Amino acid sequence: MYWADGNLQVMVDGAEKFHGHLCEGLVLGVRMALAALRELGIEDSKGPAGKDLVIFVETDRCPVDGIIAVTGRTPGKRSIKMMDYGKPAATFIETRSSNCVRVSARADFNEKVGSFAKSCFPRMEGKPAKVAAMAMVPENDLLRLQRVGVELCARDLPGKSHRIHKLQRWAMKSR
Ligand SMILES: [Zn+2]
Repeated sequence: MYWADGNLQVMVDGAEKFHGHLCEGLVLGVRMALAALRELGIEDSKGPAGKDLVIFVETDRCPVDGIIAVTGRTPGKRSIKMMDYGKPAATFIETRSSNCVRVSARADFNEKVGSFAKSCFPRMEGKPAKVAAMAMVPENDLLRLQRVGVELCARDLPGKSHRIHKLQRWAMKSR
């Protein structure tokens, strides 16, 4: 499939390899992450600039893998926090500057994506049409971006574990 935005295409291709299939939710996550990085002024979150990025995701579904694939942040690095509220939304926090943006799918995004698919891809049907529409629908019809304030406590930050000698086990320093 060819999309006009080559960068998005590359990101979605990489996300598909990571996620194991191509779906609307994955493309939504990729677009959420790209919008957040742009808003926070982070060009390459997989490089040094990304080390200060912490993301709270409000779903445990396909968009999460799109966000991980684009940002390089992972639960294992303690830089993705899974808060399953069942919402297609995530808050991206640049911890050094405390810049935060919450990116969520608009309440009517399904209708917008559906009508975009009908008008732009009348000969396509089903999932391929929805995936293409999700990739190409204007950002204003898909996402809501809100500047928010988030206070992180020490236990939310990525950090090192240390050995608790008496108990002979490892724990995060902040625990
Ligand atoms: Zn999926």
